[in-house]
Amino acid sequence: MYNLKENSMSAKIIDGKKISKLVRLEWKERATKLKEKGILPGLAVIIVGEDSASKIYVRNKANVCHEVGLHSEIHEMPEDSSEEMVLKQIRSLNNNVDIHGILVQLPLPDHINVAKVLETIAVEKDVDGFHLYNVGALVTGNTIFPPCTPYGVQCMLEHIDVPIEGQNAVIVGRSNIVGKPMAFLLLQMNATVSICTSKTRNLKQYTSMADILVVATGQPKMITGDMVKEGAVVIDVGINRSDDGKLVGDVDFDSVKEVAGYITPVPGGVGPMTITMLVANTVQAAERANGLG
Ligand code: NDP
Repeated sequence: MYNLKENSMSAKIIDGKKISKLVRLEWKERATKLKEKGILPGLAVIIVGEDSASKIYVRNKANVCHEVGLHSEIHEMPEDSSEEMVLKQIRSLNNNVDIHGILVQLPLPDHINVAKVLETIAVEKDVDGFHLYNVGALVTGNTIFPPCTPYGVQCMLEHIDVPIEGQNAVIVGRSNIVGKPMAFLLLQMNATVSICTSKTRNLKQYTSMADILVVATGQPKMITGDMVKEGAVVIDVGINRSDDGKLVGDVDFDSVKEVAGYITPVPGGVGPMTITMLVANTVQAAERANGLG
């Protein structure tokens, strides 16, 4: 068993901002190499409706694309756009050779079938990794585009250089965008993986045996210090707005940092990594489209 924590010291902070800066530089270099060959990697984002949080996410994505030197375009569609109109927009982007990655910002209005939308995105441009084909590829260990948030977590783990093979990884949350793909990525890295849900009996029994604990529940501060193994690596995916307007994670940072070996803060942890990996997937899509990936 490894123990990353030195006696009676707080956990080391995994600085997502710092790591994402380094990772963006790597992908900027790869994008520059493509540009030298006359290829400008391009990302198209479709947003339907007026959800203010979604608009902020989309703007942030465009900003990071700009920072790394990618082309990005935002297709804003009105709330009452029909499903067919959205599918038509996707098909047009599928056929656009200047666009290498397509992302449809979720959630979509209720009258639009999300599964149908995701299945319409060309597999080779599905930089969010949500198309069933890409999900199947991930499950069978032939990952094409890892979904950005778990990919960001994987990248963080690689940067702090902790052993993964043979370690107990426990994931709290089983969503299609975080928990499940995270489990398959960790499995690919030879961790022994458990997934907990809201139906899990005695959650603490699982979390306290985790060498690597990834929490993605949307329940503010639900993981407390007494639930965590000494020296564990704790990754907090949660982003919640507390009553006083502050962002808080799903992990109670103050109590867990006294026990864990490593911990991600909120904000400034997993969040910046998610957008960074979207850029990574887009550059990779452009490389593959040109026979270079
Ligand atoms: P979902 O609501 O889709 O899934 C939440 C999961 O947590 C479910 O599987 C649910 O179980 C489980 N859960 C809820 N309560 C408990 C509990 N008390 N004990 C154990 N499991 C529980 O959420 P997402 O995965 O989409 O997001 C999770 C969090 O991560 C949110 O705060 C979200 O904002 C954040 N997020 C952050 C991102 C980033 O870039 N940092 C990106 C995406 C999400 P069950 O299935 O049984 O209902």
